Amino acid sequence: MAQIRINNIRKDFGDFTAVKESSFTIEDGEFFMLLGPSGCGKTTTLRMIAGLELPTSGEIYLDGEEISQKPPSQRDIAFVFQMFALYPHMNVRKNLSYPLVSQGMARRDVKAKVEEVAGILGITDILNRPVGGLSGGDRQRVALGRAIVRDPKAFMMDEPLGALDAEFREHMAEELRALHDRMGATTVYVTHDQLEAMQMGDKIVVMNNAVVEQFGTPQEIYDKPATMFVADFIGSPSMNFLSFEGTVAEGATSVDMHGQAIGVPRQMQGDSGKLVFGVRPEHVILSDAGDYRGEVKATEYLGTTQIITLDTPNGELKARTGSDRIVKTGERLGIGFEAPKVTLFNEGSGQALR
Ligand code: ATP
Repeated sequence: MAQIRINNIRKDFGDFTAVKESSFTIEDGEFFMLLGPSGCGKTTTLRMIAGLELPTSGEIYLDGEEISQKPPSQRDIAFVFQMFALYPHMNVRKNLSYPLVSQGMARRDVKAKVEEVAGILGITDILNRPVGGLSGGDRQRVALGRAIVRDPKAFMMDEPLGALDAEFREHMAEELRALHDRMGATTVYVTHDQLEAMQMGDKIVVMNNAVVEQFGTPQEIYDKPATMFVADFIGSPSMNFLSFEGTVAEGATSVDMHGQAIGVPRQMQGDSGKLVFGVRPEHVILSDAGDYRGEVKATEYLGTTQIITLDTPNGELKARTGSDRIVKTGERLGIGFEAPKVTLFNEGSGQALR
């Protein structure tokens, strides 16, 4: 059992702040993603949970016990380094036994535990092979096995699939998720790949510039992005942003977006801040009618759907439609929106209005 609670942690390296006051909770058994672009502070956050870095301030709790300043050896958390952190001259069995032998476990128990873990990972038949000659996938399994044998409370994984090619990566991602579902151990997983995070994660923390932008389930983050950064980072193609320059009239419950009424949250009424309309490509409705029109610049065929890029008075806009609609470059189409799916942002702060 392992619930990990992060309360207001911060990490400074000299004058540089790698993680600003961040809080979130990882529930027992969750597959939890730390997602964000390079340099945003994901790895530093993971290393603080594992005890490889100590927070400058704030606390980390493991099952209610504060562990913020404890060394890694007293945390019972396993850190799975990017693949291949193995002893190449030793065989698989020795690589798996090593963490147990160095803990002083009896030889017979070590053998039993190694064989149990090899069974879980499907690597029993390669136990006596040297690690040096193994395929990428088998090395990955052995690296995981090295973490699993110790029966830790939680696993920390830093881009464990980063070195694999796309096709194999997808296969290993599925295998990893299935393994997690069988074992049920709390896992914290760092990635910069939004698709990987959406596909694998029970929950996601999206970080940017040392700050937690949003924390929630993949669906919450996709459907209700808290900031323009999250809306842009999640989803492919990204959300369209259309600027709206105007004042929301006192008492108005909606604003006009090219002939369509878009509901305005109460907090915005009477406000004169600049707004941005965020619309995902699948919520753009193309038709032959309508006053608000755009010219087709390009189409990208994706099998059951297609992405149509249009030039509009507000700049470029992408729409996702069924691929049965025949669209020609240069054609002018009417553009509408699924009003309830539009997210409004404050242009200055980048925050979504709720
Ligand atoms: P990446 O995917 O590129 O590893 P990340 O989101 O994991 O990115 P971190 O590795 O956490 O980012 O690094 C965040 C910032 O902190 C970076 O600018 C990095 O250069 C800086 N940083 C990390 N460790 C140290 C350190 N020991 N000393 C100084 N700066 C550091």
